[in-house]
Amino acid sequence: MEKGEKYELLKQIKEEVVNLKDSPLYEYRIENNYFPVIGEGSHDAKIMFVGEGPGKNEAETGKPFCGASGKVLTQLIESIGLQRSDVYITNVVKDRPPDNRDPLPQEISLYAPFLDRQIEIIQPKVVATLGRYSMAYIMQKFGLLGELKSISQIHGKLFNAKALYGDIRIITLYHPAVALYQNSLKEQMFKDFAVFKKLL
Ligand code: URA
Repeated sequence: MEKGEKYELLKQIKEEVVNLKDSPLYEYRIENNYFPVIGEGSHDAKIMFVGEGPGKNEAETGKPFCGASGKVLTQLIESIGLQRSDVYITNVVKDRPPDNRDPLPQEISLYAPFLDRQIEIIQPKVVATLGRYSMAYIMQKFGLLGELKSISQIHGKLFNAKALYGDIRIITLYHPAVALYQNSLKEQMFKDFAVFKKLL
Protein backbone atom coordinates (compact mmCIF):
# COMPACT_ATOMS: atom_id res chain seq x y z
CA MET A 1 0.00 0.00 0.00
CA GLU A 2 1.24 3.46 -0.91
CA LYS A 3 2.39 5.93 1.79
CA GLY A 4 -0.38 8.45 1.07
CA GLU A 5 -3.05 5.77 1.19
CA LYS A 6 -1.80 4.48 4.53
CA TYR A 7 -1.81 8.00 5.90
CA GLU A 8 -5.40 8.60 4.78
CA LEU A 9 -6.67 5.29 6.18
CA LEU A 10 -4.97 5.90 9.52
CA LYS A 11 -6.37 9.43 9.62
CA GLN A 12 -9.83 8.02 9.05
CA ILE A 13 -9.38 5.73 12.08
CA LYS A 14 -8.37 8.75 14.13
CA GLU A 15 -11.48 10.68 13.08
CA GLU A 16 -13.77 7.76 13.90
CA VAL A 17 -12.24 7.29 17.35
CA VAL A 18 -12.40 11.03 18.08
CA ASN A 19 -16.14 10.85 17.36
CA LEU A 20 -16.81 7.58 19.16
CA LYS A 21 -19.68 8.92 21.25
CA ASP A 22 -21.06 5.42 21.90
CA SER A 23 -17.98 4.50 23.91
CA PRO A 24 -18.49 4.18 27.67
CA LEU A 25 -15.18 6.08 27.95
CA TYR A 26 -16.24 9.03 25.77
CA GLU A 27 -17.84 11.15 28.49
CA TYR A 28 -14.85 10.67 30.80
CA ARG A 29 -12.59 11.82 27.95
CA ILE A 30 -14.63 14.99 27.36
CA GLU A 31 -15.07 15.83 31.07
CA ASN A 32 -11.31 15.65 31.59
CA ASN A 33 -10.26 17.32 28.33
CA TYR A 34 -8.44 14.13 27.45
CA PHE A 35 -7.39 12.99 23.99
CA PRO A 36 -7.95 9.55 22.57
CA VAL A 37 -4.63 7.83 21.88
CA ILE A 38 -4.57 6.31 18.43
CA GLY A 39 -0.96 5.31 17.89
CA GLU A 40 2.41 6.68 16.91
CA GLY A 41 5.40 5.67 14.83
CA SER A 42 6.39 4.50 11.40
CA HIS A 43 3.54 3.61 9.03
CA ASP A 44 5.90 1.05 7.50
CA ALA A 45 7.02 -0.43 10.81
CA LYS A 46 8.05 -4.08 10.82
CA ILE A 47 7.25 -4.24 14.54
CA MET A 48 4.03 -3.07 16.19
CA PHE A 49 3.76 -2.85 19.98
CA VAL A 50 0.28 -3.16 21.43
CA GLY A 51 -0.42 -1.99 25.00
CA GLU A 52 -3.65 -2.04 26.96
CA GLY A 53 -5.00 1.48 27.13
CA PRO A 54 -3.80 5.04 27.73
CA GLY A 55 -2.86 6.21 31.22
CA LYS A 56 -3.16 9.81 32.46
CA ASN A 57 -0.05 11.16 30.69
CA GLU A 58 -1.10 9.55 27.45
CA ALA A 59 -4.68 10.89 27.65
CA GLU A 60 -3.33 14.37 28.38
CA THR A 61 -1.04 14.36 25.35
CA GLY A 62 -2.64 11.92 22.91
CA LYS A 63 0.65 9.99 22.68
CA PRO A 64 1.03 6.32 23.61
CA PHE A 65 3.48 5.26 26.30
CA CYS A 66 4.76 8.76 27.11
CA GLY A 67 4.77 8.40 30.93
CA ALA A 68 6.84 6.28 33.31
CA SER A 69 6.10 2.95 31.63
CA GLY A 70 6.80 4.62 28.27
CA LYS A 71 10.31 5.45 29.48
CA VAL A 72 10.87 1.76 30.18
CA LEU A 73 9.45 0.81 26.79
CA THR A 74 11.80 3.29 25.06
CA GLN A 75 14.80 1.76 26.89
CA LEU A 76 13.68 -1.73 25.89
CA ILE A 77 13.29 -0.73 22.23
CA GLU A 78 16.72 0.92 22.26
CA SER A 79 18.20 -2.21 23.85
CA ILE A 80 17.56 -4.06 20.59
CA GLY A 81 19.19 -1.33 18.51
CA LEU A 82 16.01 0.42 17.38
CA GLN A 83 14.43 3.82 17.99
CA ARG A 84 10.80 4.44 18.86
CA SER A 85 10.38 6.05 15.44
CA ASP A 86 11.30 2.72 13.77
CA VAL A 87 8.31 0.90 15.27
CA TYR A 88 4.59 1.59 15.67
CA ILE A 89 3.12 1.83 19.17
CA THR A 90 -0.57 1.58 19.95
CA ASN A 91 -3.07 0.09 22.40
CA VAL A 92 -6.12 -2.15 22.23
CA VAL A 93 -8.31 0.45 23.97
CA LYS A 94 -7.86 3.99 22.65
CA ASP A 95 -9.39 6.00 25.52
CA ARG A 96 -8.22 6.13 29.13
CA PRO A 97 -10.18 3.87 31.48
CA PRO A 98 -10.98 5.80 34.70
CA ASP A 99 -8.23 5.59 37.34
CA ASN A 100 -6.22 3.21 35.15
CA ARG A 101 -8.56 0.33 35.86
CA ASP A 102 -8.27 -2.72 33.62
CA PRO A 103 -10.17 -2.45 30.34
CA LEU A 104 -13.60 -4.14 30.38
CA PRO A 105 -14.50 -6.84 27.83
CA GLN A 106 -17.07 -4.54 26.19
CA GLU A 107 -14.41 -1.81 25.82
CA ILE A 108 -11.99 -4.26 24.23
CA SER A 109 -14.70 -5.40 21.79
CA LEU A 110 -15.59 -1.82 20.90
CA TYR A 111 -12.04 -0.60 20.24
CA ALA A 112 -10.40 -3.77 18.88
CA PRO A 113 -11.71 -3.32 15.30
CA PHE A 114 -9.62 -0.12 15.11
CA LEU A 115 -6.54 -2.10 16.11
CA ASP A 116 -7.43 -4.75 13.50
CA ARG A 117 -7.53 -2.02 10.85
CA GLN A 118 -4.21 -0.55 12.02
CA ILE A 119 -2.61 -3.97 11.62
CA GLU A 120 -4.05 -4.37 8.11
CA ILE A 121 -2.80 -0.92 7.07
CA ILE A 122 0.70 -1.03 8.59
CA GLN A 123 1.16 -4.75 7.91
CA PRO A 124 3.83 -5.42 10.54
CA LYS A 125 5.84 -8.63 10.42
CA VAL A 126 5.80 -8.79 14.22
CA VAL A 127 3.09 -7.81 16.69
CA ALA A 128 4.48 -7.58 20.23
CA THR A 129 1.88 -7.54 22.96
CA LEU A 130 2.47 -5.64 26.20
CA GLY A 131 0.48 -7.10 29.08
CA ARG A 132 -2.17 -9.76 29.40
CA TYR A 133 -5.12 -7.97 27.79
CA SER A 134 -3.41 -7.28 24.50
CA MET A 135 -1.85 -10.76 24.64
CA ALA A 136 -5.27 -12.40 25.03
CA TYR A 137 -6.85 -10.29 22.29
CA ILE A 138 -4.05 -10.74 19.75
CA MET A 139 -3.65 -14.47 20.42
CA GLN A 140 -7.35 -15.14 19.90
CA LYS A 141 -7.38 -12.91 16.79
CA PHE A 142 -4.57 -14.93 15.22
CA GLY A 143 -5.95 -18.36 16.14
CA LEU A 144 -3.49 -19.01 18.97
CA LEU A 145 -6.01 -19.57 21.77
CA GLY A 146 -4.76 -23.15 22.21
CA GLU A 147 -1.36 -21.74 23.22
CA LEU A 148 -2.64 -18.98 25.48
CA LYS A 149 -1.36 -19.37 29.05
CA SER A 150 -0.73 -16.95 31.89
CA ILE A 151 1.75 -14.24 31.02
CA SER A 152 4.20 -15.56 33.63
CA GLN A 153 4.35 -18.76 31.55
CA ILE A 154 4.62 -17.30 28.04
CA HIS A 155 6.44 -13.96 28.40
CA GLY A 156 9.18 -13.60 25.80
CA LYS A 157 7.71 -16.31 23.55
CA LEU A 158 7.45 -16.17 19.79
CA PHE A 159 4.43 -17.58 17.91
CA ASN A 160 3.92 -17.99 14.18
CA ALA A 161 0.58 -16.99 12.70
CA LYS A 162 -1.05 -15.87 9.46
CA ALA A 163 -2.35 -12.38 8.85
CA LEU A 164 -4.56 -11.56 5.85
CA TYR A 165 -1.49 -10.05 4.15
CA GLY A 166 0.98 -12.87 4.97
CA ASP A 167 3.02 -14.50 7.72
CA ILE A 168 3.21 -12.75 11.06
CA ARG A 169 5.02 -13.42 14.36
CA ILE A 170 3.47 -12.69 17.70
CA ILE A 171 5.72 -11.93 20.68
CA THR A 172 4.14 -11.90 24.13
CA LEU A 173 5.75 -9.51 26.61
CA TYR A 174 5.09 -8.26 30.12
CA HIS A 175 3.59 -4.79 30.36
CA PRO A 176 6.46 -2.30 30.94
CA ALA A 177 4.65 -0.97 34.04
CA VAL A 178 5.67 -4.16 35.89
CA ALA A 179 9.28 -2.98 35.64
CA LEU A 180 8.36 0.07 37.72
CA TYR A 181 7.54 -1.89 40.83
CA GLN A 182 9.56 -5.10 40.47
CA ASN A 183 13.20 -4.85 39.52
CA SER A 184 13.56 -8.57 38.81
CA LEU A 185 10.80 -8.28 36.20
CA LYS A 186 12.58 -5.30 34.65
CA GLU A 187 15.66 -7.49 34.15
CA GLN A 188 13.43 -10.24 32.77
CA MET A 189 11.90 -7.81 30.27
CA PHE A 190 15.33 -6.91 28.90
CA LYS A 191 16.08 -10.63 28.54
CA ASP A 192 12.74 -11.19 26.82
CA PHE A 193 13.45 -8.39 24.33
CA ALA A 194 16.47 -10.37 23.12
CA VAL A 195 13.92 -12.55 21.29
CA PHE A 196 13.69 -9.76 18.67
CA LYS A 197 17.36 -10.23 17.84
CA LYS A 198 16.49 -13.61 16.36
CA LEU A 199 14.34 -11.81 13.82
CA LEU A 200 16.12 -8.55 13.02
N1 URA B 1 -0.03 1.73 29.40
C1 URA B 1 -0.56 1.23 28.26
O1 URA B 1 -1.00 0.09 28.20
N2 URA B 1 -0.58 2.03 27.20
C2 URA B 1 -0.10 3.28 27.19
O2 URA B 1 -0.17 3.93 26.16
C3 URA B 1 0.47 3.76 28.39
C4 URA B 1 0.49 2.98 29.47
